[in-house]
Amino acid sequence: MSADSEARNAEILESLAEIRSRMQSAASGSPTLVAVSKYKPASDIEACFGAGQLDFGENYVQELEDKAKVLPTEIRWHFIGTLQSNKAKVLAAIPNLYSIQTLTSIKAATALNKSLPADRTSPLNILIQINTSGEDSKSGLGPLTGSDPDAEVTQLARHIISTCPRLRLQGLMTIGALEQSLTAGEENVDFERLKRTRDVLAETLVAEFGSEQERWGAEGTGRLLLSMGMSSDFEAALRAGSDIVRVGTGIFGARPKK
Ligand SMILES: *Cc1c(COP(=O)(O)O)cnc(C)c1O
Repeated sequence: MSADSEARNAEILESLAEIRSRMQSAASGSPTLVAVSKYKPASDIEACFGAGQLDFGENYVQELEDKAKVLPTEIRWHFIGTLQSNKAKVLAAIPNLYSIQTLTSIKAATALNKSLPADRTSPLNILIQINTSGEDSKSGLGPLTGSDPDAEVTQLARHIISTCPRLRLQGLMTIGALEQSLTAGEENVDFERLKRTRDVLAETLVAEFGSEQERWGAEGTGRLLLSMGMSSDFEAALRAGSDIVRVGTGIFGARPKK
């Protein structure tokens, strides 16, 4: 290995260790760290993998497909980019795709369920993306304030549970407004909105499907998980109860502009 790549790997491992220790201080349980590796070379991912990091997030289907081919199959890939139904087939063919965190439509759910190979050992984890901040620049379904059987998110959740046996509704994901001027002790309103949405959705699902957790919720717990928190706000997200944080820049450094 060249001196340059040794230095690069050392830098990444130091950042990864720092993020992990900050996570531990902010969290009460044991949340999952998804290392967001978009635009970053396979060698960066290998460095993290060598330090026991298994969960990686990618935004672009082609980039994910290329990386999954050359990197260890033990990696759990999380798709966190904009999901188009016509890309469902390519994604579904990646054997170690672990989750899709950005589902927003019944059409895409149906396409994924149809494309997943019948011999997949476990269902594909699905998180529905919620646009908690209401910004036009962010995708996602509207948050819930109270139980609403006709809301888009409820309908999508019901569709996954009742008609997509190869999918498992694992939870909800949001980005939220990144520029929240919070004074000490104040809550991030978007994180609170995601939590509220999860709580009332869970209530509806229990009422419709029972609390028998074969088909929805995190495996083993039956709880709908929350994926929220990125480099700039993962500690606040963890304090608010996040189960999954997605950190890119904090581990790999700045990304080139597209
Ligand atoms: C790029 C990206 C991240 C990581 O963002 P950082 O600020 O680099 O940590 C997390 N979530 C999503 C959905 C992203 O697109």
